[in-house]
Amino acid sequence: MTLAGGDPDIPLPAPDLDLPGATAAALDRAEAIDRDIHAFLHLDRDGATAGARRLERQPPAARGPLFGLPVAVKDNIAVRGVPSTSGSAVLGAYRAPYDATVVERLRAAGAVILGTTNLDEFAMGSATTSGFRGPTRNPVDPERIVGGSSGGPAAAVASGAVPVALGTDTGGSVRLPAAHTGIFGIRPTYGRISRFGITAYASSFDQVGCLATNPTDLGRVLSVISGADPRDATSVDREVPDFAAAAARPAFPRNVMAASEEDIAILDPPSRAAFSRTLRRFEAGGATIQRFRLPEAVTTISAYYVLVCAEASSNLARFDGMRYGSRVEGDGTLAEAFRASRTAGFGDEVRLRILLGTTVLSQGYRDAIYAAATAARKAIRNRLLGHFDQGDFLLIPIARTAPRRLSDPVEAGEDYDGDRFTILASLAGLPALAIPAGEREGLPFGVELIAPPWEEAALLSAAAALAD
Ligand code: GLN
Repeated sequence: MTLAGGDPDIPLPAPDLDLPGATAAALDRAEAIDRDIHAFLHLDRDGATAGARRLERQPPAARGPLFGLPVAVKDNIAVRGVPSTSGSAVLGAYRAPYDATVVERLRAAGAVILGTTNLDEFAMGSATTSGFRGPTRNPVDPERIVGGSSGGPAAAVASGAVPVALGTDTGGSVRLPAAHTGIFGIRPTYGRISRFGITAYASSFDQVGCLATNPTDLGRVLSVISGADPRDATSVDREVPDFAAAAARPAFPRNVMAASEEDIAILDPPSRAAFSRTLRRFEAGGATIQRFRLPEAVTTISAYYVLVCAEASSNLARFDGMRYGSRVEGDGTLAEAFRASRTAGFGDEVRLRILLGTTVLSQGYRDAIYAAATAARKAIRNRLLGHFDQGDFLLIPIARTAPRRLSDPVEAGEDYDGDRFTILASLAGLPALAIPAGEREGLPFGVELIAPPWEEAALLSAAAALAD
């Protein structure tokens, strides 16, 4: 049964590979592809070439599991010496002075960092249109949005510029663009991967994730970047399984809890039909499907946005033109420089979220709103965990509709409402995988499989079986 597409695994490079030559070719290719897509914010010719030269000198026995693999990295992940803007004018002039832990681990495993990719400003968004350097286009149809906020990484992979990319996922930022471009994208269990060197949006939600065209490549990279890090106290010291081996052991899902008909009624008709087709394919493969009601969307969306805005307002307080970020002087007073720097530095969506966040944290609202959202989050987590008594996985849609055209108007709140499915795993800290599941009206359709905490290996085995 073929549910998901998928290229063959990345071939291991031949021992006599001319790595600097291969890297130069990869850079040229990425540059050519990127003219129409704008997945990259910075192609790091010098850094990638130097990295390839360094790797080439390694004796074959010392070569890591990702030797020679070109990787793109979302530009809210620090790459030493490279612009690290988070898609924001306030960080327009910033170059990261160090590598994020995930980048350090990629390099140690032999990967070549080809460049940094586009995103919504500070990863707030679902379209990759709000970054200060303009939108990324969907490689499947360049007139359409790619999804966000990790639209750059998704477009870099889906266009064939790189086989794998790192994104970040706060409320769906890896899974949505993966679904909109027809590739795989994983958000691991909260704490699986270090956040050191990631520009924080909402720290209790943010996780690094990977995007690739097949589960094996996802697994290879996930194994390398996972694991405890003394520089991130929220990273968890747990054994890291061999995720590539898990992807090489296909295991068709047996008991699956799927979103109820009432919950998928919100999808547009072609997407609803595509979700139903997916359920039938699961059943044809031998899965037993039961249905479950999702927590109320209004509660889920409110809890998510209250909490992420609260955390964002506090995380982004440092960008004031004094401690961090570009400074605009104004009339010469410190207060005016603070106001002018933040006004010039942040786009509308970011400003709105900071205002919402400071409001819900202010005295008088804190108990009524922030505490209520925290309680709702706990209840949502418990409720989702309870469903694993009956099913090994939860299966839900990712997007309500196909990716819209870049020229389509967007209604206020439309994208917040569209987050209703992906934010569930984020609120609950659960691992979740976007799996390509055919097409709806010629555009990619993806579904999300959610597993109990720390069960990423099961997700990859299931994805491999579905891709067979
Ligand atoms: N669309 C969601 C938001 O804007 C998710 C973004 C993300 O995961 N970074 O918060």
